[in-house]
Amino acid sequence: MKCLLCGQTMKTVLTFGSLLLLRNDESCLCSDCDSTFERIGEEHCPNCMKIGLSTNCQDCQLWCKEGIEVSHSAIFTYNQAMKDFFSRYKFDGDFLLRKVFSSFLSEELKKYKEYQFVVIPLSKERYADRGFNQVEGLVEAAGFKYLDLLDKREERANSSKSRSERLATELPFFIKSEVTIPKKILIIDDIYTTGTTINRVKKLLEDAGAEDVKTFSLVR
Ligand SMILES: [Zn+2]
Ligand SMILES: [Zn+2]
Repeated sequence: MKCLLCGQTMKTVLTFGSLLLLRNDESCLCSDCDSTFERIGEEHCPNCMKIGLSTNCQDCQLWCKEGIEVSHSAIFTYNQAMKDFFSRYKFDGDFLLRKVFSSFLSEELKKYKEYQFVVIPLSKERYADRGFNQVEGLVEAAGFKYLDLLDKREERANSSKSRSERLATELPFFIKSEVTIPKKILIIDDIYTTGTTINRVKKLLEDAGAEDVKTFSLVR
């Protein structure tokens, strides 16, 4: 079997990934590539997993003032190897790469047994450009299903407002009509940076009746 990232034929050494899921399947990464990714360590914000601190970070305190209780988990840091991965997966559109982190995702997502999964959608435009939703790809490759509750408006390219102004005033996501909102939801995205998108979608679903909404991303 060949490594999905670098193409080298893999020897039958156990990588960290394959150790994690002995029974599920074999790793898609060689040990060289595997070692370039960095897992989030013990020391992180308890709410959003920002690394390097062990108490609530400033962002989380600001969210709290807005009435949003951050409850996020993630697996990896956004290091150079991860940036390179997303550039190939998302921007070069290499759909095969959705499998690279399957074992890690499966191990993590199965902890949310009682939760229904919801994926952050792309706008129709973006979806047409890329040909796939990169988060749906990750979740499906890990063997999980998700509910189709959300949609995203097209982003207006020539808005006079700056990106941050727009994000602050209007949420481009909305709940589809005639869907039932489950009580427990895990919102899944690929990368958590400021948390603006995922936390606003969390609020949207809570306002629509969900009682327990947590968030998750592959990368933080
Ligand atoms: Zn490799
Ligand atoms: Zn935080």
